Amino acid sequence: MPDICFWNKCNNKCVMCTNPKEFSNASPKGNYDLKTQIAKFKAYLSGIENTYKGNGDNYISITGGEPTIHPDFFSLLYYIRKNLPHTPITLLSNGRRFGENMFFKKFIKVAIQPFSIAVALHAADASNFEKITGVKGSFSQTIKGLDNLISHFQGHIDIRIIIHKMNVDLLDEIIRFIDERWGKRDNLRLVFIHYEIEGMSEVNSAMVGLKLSVSAQKLLSCLPLLKGFDFHLYHYPLCILSPKLRKYARITLPIDERIYVKKCNSCVLRKKCLGLMKEYYKSYGAGEIKTMVP
Ligand code: SF4
Repeated sequence: MPDICFWNKCNNKCVMCTNPKEFSNASPKGNYDLKTQIAKFKAYLSGIENTYKGNGDNYISITGGEPTIHPDFFSLLYYIRKNLPHTPITLLSNGRRFGENMFFKKFIKVAIQPFSIAVALHAADASNFEKITGVKGSFSQTIKGLDNLISHFQGHIDIRIIIHKMNVDLLDEIIRFIDERWGKRDNLRLVFIHYEIEGMSEVNSAMVGLKLSVSAQKLLSCLPLLKGFDFHLYHYPLCILSPKLRKYARITLPIDERIYVKKCNSCVLRKKCLGLMKEYYKSYGAGEIKTMVP
């Protein structure tokens, strides 16, 4: 189950990015050697082929930076699909390049199933969206990218809403926007993610800092708008979520990034619960946690 970090460059400069500032530099000049990158990548894949080939229980997650701005994105994708034809691939992207018609046509040819995509949507309007991404024009490009994907991509699409102080009050608008523009579809899921404290989000903590209980409360108030949508919640301890929301929570972080505090010891929900993100615990403590009793 490898996560493949395609490369460490991105064409957005998101305030809550978990990567360091150096990632927000789309130019490969000076520190990018294509041959070395491909050779390393192929060596890595050939190393995992024997373990992962034909094993339906595994998948590849392609992340970045932003994978789609890699100069050899298509040949690397083609290489993965050719060598691991049955392994599900998930691509995490800001979606902007899917708005370019030529790029998108090429992508559709290479993205052979099983293939799914996750695109982050930060707000429902350009002004708020671009305050978060730091890039003018990124809203319309992302929306056009999602238009193309939702109209033509056969695989599963996640729209990821990473929640922090700058967009928590916009959640209703975001859900309404998605509903009006794309509606409920079998291959579309919304994923609400409480932001992680790492990289730029730590640097920008005064702008983005948000307690889990605040975002959980906001999600509860949005529940009527989510009727009919497939949706998941990432990074929430179950006791912070309303009982109505708990079934949507998923554990997606490795155990070394999470912590169960003393109050968790006798909790009946522990087995199904993420606990707290370690970095969150360091910043906000465990005051919001409540032991769940039978
Ligand atoms: S007390 Fe701990 S184990 Fe129980 S729901 Fe809260 S965070 Fe999860």
